[in-house]
Amino acid sequence: MRTIDLSGRVALVAGVANQRSLAWAIAEALADAGARLILTYQGERLERNVAELAETRPGTLTFPCDVTNDVEIYALFQRIAAANDGKLDVLVHSIAFARREDLEGEFRNTSRDGWHVALDISAYSLLALTSRAAPLLEAAGGGSILSLTFQASQRVFPNYNVMGSAKAALEHAVRQLASELGERRIRVNAISAGPISTLSARGIAGFTDILGHYREKAPMRRNIEPEEVGKAALFLLSEMGSGITGEVLHVDCGFHIMAV
Ligand code: NAP
Repeated sequence: MRTIDLSGRVALVAGVANQRSLAWAIAEALADAGARLILTYQGERLERNVAELAETRPGTLTFPCDVTNDVEIYALFQRIAAANDGKLDVLVHSIAFARREDLEGEFRNTSRDGWHVALDISAYSLLALTSRAAPLLEAAGGGSILSLTFQASQRVFPNYNVMGSAKAALEHAVRQLASELGERRIRVNAISAGPISTLSARGIAGFTDILGHYREKAPMRRNIEPEEVGKAALFLLSEMGSGITGEVLHVDCGFHIMAV
């Protein structure tokens, strides 16, 4: 018997680039609990990766969605509504991007355009997806939304620069959306994950040092595993998290509680 049973539920997971993606760890946890998956990919470059992963979970649908493109977002939710009787149960937003030159060097030199790109893709996209998803989640009798953040929203990490600003905006958006959508029985939460070596994370200069620092300082003296993000996501997205909204849950082996 499953402890958490999501059979009959449909989950849209945006942000799978490959099998190391946190989005994929979450998708696997949701699928193991019985949910049917809808995965999105950004452009043809990643279509094959995502299609191959989707094949491991029969019944999974895949659609394109570049979150900077409102037409693609609109089309995505039209397709989801058509495929699923106008309903959706879960939305996972696991998307972030900043230009490489904005993830090193002096933060004060971030260009206006670099700031715009990072905040648009990493924070505004949660609003863009939520706005389209909300009617489908409501039609399903309520639903749950989850985003992924990092502690650079609160504290200074070398080279995260504009991504720290984007995560601060994202965490605010989680609270604001949670407040707005609570009455409609839609919960909105975030997981603040410890560092994990993924495609995006490896774009941060000095990321390996950060991994080592976490291992040394975290109360549990290790780094987290992607599956641990998947399990926490499953908890928040399922009935187990029914009383929780507007929350940023740290899945970081306790690193965030340490001062020295
Ligand atoms: P990842 O596998 O590289 O996932 C990032 C995803 O964002 C990719 O699928 C990427 O697609 C997508 N993306 C970027 N620009 C997009 C756009 N315009 N439209 C649609 N999708 C776009 O890395 P990850 O570490 O799992 O990141 C997932 C989330 O977890 C991010 O929000 C990240 O900040 C957060 N997080 C990561 C860590 C960590 O240490 N890994 C820690 C805390 C939080 P493309 O590959 O096509 O760009």
